[in-house]
Amino acid sequence: MVSAGAAIGESCAELTAQSITPDQIDNCRPLPAGAAHLSRALAALPPKGELTRFNQAERAKLESLNEFVRRIGRDGAWVIKVVDAPQAAIGLFERAVVIVTGPAFHRLSSLELQAVIAHEFGHEYVWREFEAARLANNHRRLQELELVCDRVAVVLLERFQIDTRHLRSALQRIEEYNLERFVPAANTPNYPSLQMRTDLINRWSRPRRR
Ligand SMILES: [Zn+2]
Repeated sequence: MVSAGAAIGESCAELTAQSITPDQIDNCRPLPAGAAHLSRALAALPPKGELTRFNQAERAKLESLNEFVRRIGRDGAWVIKVVDAPQAAIGLFERAVVIVTGPAFHRLSSLELQAVIAHEFGHEYVWREFEAARLANNHRRLQELELVCDRVAVVLLERFQIDTRHLRSALQRIEEYNLERFVPAANTPNYPSLQMRTDLINRWSRPRRR
C-alpha cells in the first residue's frame, strides 16, 4: 500500500519529461510525506542488512548525501540507509527511505549519488502514476515516468550548480556494474535504455564550458 502524497493540482497531473518546466518543479512540488509516515516506513524495513560501519571518507560521503537531502527540503522526511545487497541500486522506499546498496555507495562518487537522489526526488512527483503503471504492468508508461524523474533531476542539479554529467555517469556505472555480474533484472523493460536517458539528459542540460 502506497499512501497518497500531497494533493497534486490539475496542472501537475500530466507532467511529461519533454514539457516539464522549472516553474512546475516548484508549483507541483509534493509535500513531504511526514515524520509519522517515515516511522512506519522504517518499521517496515528488514531488521538486518543495514551497513553502519564506515571509515572517515565514507562518513563524509554519507554526510554529503544527508546535506543534499536537506537542500531538497526532505530533512526529517527522508532517511538514507546503506544496505548490504549484491547489485548496485538506489531507490526510494515509501517516499521516506532512500535505499543505497553497498556497491552503489562505494562505487559512485558523492556527486553521482546526489544526482541519483535528485532522480529519486522526481519519483515523489509521479508516485501515484508510477504505482498505477506498475500495477498495470505498463512498461511504456513506466519508462515515460522514469524520464520525468530524470528531467526533474536535471532541473534540480542545475539549480544547485551540479553538473548533470554526474547523473549520466552514475546511470552508466550502475548499469555496467550490474550487467557485468548479473543477468538483466526482471524489471529491465520498465526502464528506458541508458542511451536514451543519457541523450535526453544531455539535451535538457544547459551547455557548459568544459
Ligand atoms: Zn527511477
